[in-house]
Amino acid sequence: LAGTPDIPDSDALRCLRRVFGYDAFRGEQREIIEHVVDGGDALVLMPTGGGKSLCYQIPALVRPGVGIVVSPLIALMQDQVDALRALGVRAGFLNSTQDPDERRMVEAEFLAGELDLLYLAPERLRVEATLRLLDRGKISLFAIDEAHCVAQWGHDFRPDYLALSALHERWPDVPRIALTATATEATRREIAARLKLDDARHFVASFDRPNIQYRIVPKNEPKRQLLELLRTEHAGDAGVVYCLSRKGVEDTAAFLVQSGIDALPYHAGLDAATRAAHQSRFLREDGIVMVATIAFGMGIDKPDVRFVAHLDLPKSVEGYYQETGRAGRDGQPSTAWLAYGLQDVVQQRKLIDGSEGDEAHRRRLAAHLEAMLALCETVECRRVQLLAYFGQQSGPCGNCDTCIAPPVTWDGTIAAQKFLSTVLRLARERRQKFGAGQIIDILLGKKTAKVIQHDHDALTVFGIGTELSMAEWRGVVRQLLAQRLLAVEGEYGTLVLTDDSGDVLGSRRQVLLRREPEKPVRSAGAARS
Ligand code: ADP
Ligand code: ZN
Repeated sequence: LAGTPDIPDSDALRCLRRVFGYDAFRGEQREIIEHVVDGGDALVLMPTGGGKSLCYQIPALVRPGVGIVVSPLIALMQDQVDALRALGVRAGFLNSTQDPDERRMVEAEFLAGELDLLYLAPERLRVEATLRLLDRGKISLFAIDEAHCVAQWGHDFRPDYLALSALHERWPDVPRIALTATATEATRREIAARLKLDDARHFVASFDRPNIQYRIVPKNEPKRQLLELLRTEHAGDAGVVYCLSRKGVEDTAAFLVQSGIDALPYHAGLDAATRAAHQSRFLREDGIVMVATIAFGMGIDKPDVRFVAHLDLPKSVEGYYQETGRAGRDGQPSTAWLAYGLQDVVQQRKLIDGSEGDEAHRRRLAAHLEAMLALCETVECRRVQLLAYFGQQSGPCGNCDTCIAPPVTWDGTIAAQKFLSTVLRLARERRQKFGAGQIIDILLGKKTAKVIQHDHDALTVFGIGTELSMAEWRGVVRQLLAQRLLAVEGEYGTLVLTDDSGDVLGSRRQVLLRREPEKPVRSAGAARS
C-alpha cells in the first residue's frame, strides 16, 4: 500500500509499516498516536486485543528519547522485550527478577540513549535511585499500562501504582499515556484523578466483541456440563477454563484428561518451570485446554482461543469481561460460557466477609458481586447489560443465550413471599438463621434429620412450597439474591432479609423471575464442527 502521492506519510505511519510490518492503523490508533507524538496526555480505553501497545510504542520511536513503560506484568517483560528486539526495536526492562549486573547494563544503555523503550515494574518507581536514574536520561513519554491497577474501585488494585502520580510532578513536560481494557465510568474517573491526568484526552473504543457468544447457565454438575460443551461444540479447540481455587483447577484438569481432552493445569501453586512449560504448550500447540486460576491470561496474546469457560462465578463484571475477552481475538466465532449456582454466591459472600481491608473495601467487593449477579440473572440481552456496565449503549445482539432463547418470565411474587416469610419466621419465632438448603427442605415438606432435629416440621410454612422443584427453588433464591430481596451472610451462608424484603411480604412489590432453562442453549454456529 502506497501513501497518497501528494500527502507525505507521517512518521507514525512509516514506523507502523517499516518496524511493525502493518499496512494501516486500526480504530483510533492514528489519532491517539498523533496526539501523544505532539506531546499530549491520553487516557486510552480499549478492549483486550484492541491494539493498545502500538499506541505508546510508535510515539516512543518517533519522539526523541526513551519511552518508559510501567507494567505490572513482570513475568511477561522478557517476552515483550524479546519480541520488540526481534523487530529491531531497542528495548530493555528493569524488574526484581534481574541480578545487579543485568540491571546495571540496562541502566547504562538507558543513559547512553541506546534504548527506545524501557519497561519498568511499578515498584521500581518507588525507589529514589530509579527516579534519579530517569533524571539523568532523556524521556520521550511515560506509558502506564494496565492503568486500572491504580483504581481502588476496580478489580485489580495494586498499591505500587499510587506512586505514579509523582511522575507528573517530577517531569511535567513529558507526555503520559495511560491504557486499560477496563472502563467503567467509576474506574475511569478514578484513573484520571489518581494519575492527575487532568488535561488528558480520553479515547474510548467500543467494548463490543461481537464474535463472542455469551452464555450463562445454572450450575448442576459443572464438570459434566463443561465436558458436554467441549465435546459438542469445541472438539479439538483451544480454550481456557477458569476455576476459583487451585484445587478446582487440579480436579478439573485431571477430569478432562481422563475424558480424553488435552488439558493442562495452571495456577500460582505450580513451580515457575511447570507454569512456563504449560503456557508455552498452550501458545504453540493446537487445541490445548488450559485449566487455570485468574493467575493465567493477562498479556497472553493467542488469537485462536475458541472458548473461555468459567466454572465459578467471577468476582466482578470487569474481571469477567477481561477474562472472556481472551476468546476470539482473531474475530472468529467464539464462546464465553459461565456456569454458576447458589453455592457461588454463598462462597463469594464468605470471602468478602472474611476479607482484609476496611468496611469501604468490603462494600466495593459486595457491589462488584451484585453487578455480576445481576448479569447472571438478567432476562435481557447479556451484551446490552455488559456494555451498559461499561457505559456504552447498544441493542439486543442476537448472539447471546438470552437473545437466542429468550427466558420465559413468571410472576414469582407468591413463591418469593413463601420463601421470605419462612426466613422471617425462623428469625422471629426461633431466633434462627439457616442457609438455602434447610429453608427449601421446609418449603418442600421434607422430614430430613435436620428438619426433625430443629422441630421445623411444626412450622406453619412446612410443606407449603411443593409446587416447585428443588432446582426451581434454588433458582428462586439466586434471583432473590440478585434482586437484593434477600442477602447471604457469614461463614455458613445463612440467609437474611434486606430493607426491600418488606415490600414483597407486604404485597407492595411484584417479583418477576426467569424460568430455569430446560435445555442448554447451543451455539447457532454449532454446525461449524
Ligand atoms: P491489547 O494490548 O490492546 O490487548 P495488543 O497491543 O497486544 O492489544 O494487540 C493485539 C494484536 O493486534 C497484536 O497481535 C498486535 O500485533 C495486533 N495489531 C495491533 N495493531 C495492529 C494494526 N494496526 N494492524 C494489524 N495488527 C495490529
Ligand atoms: Zn444478546
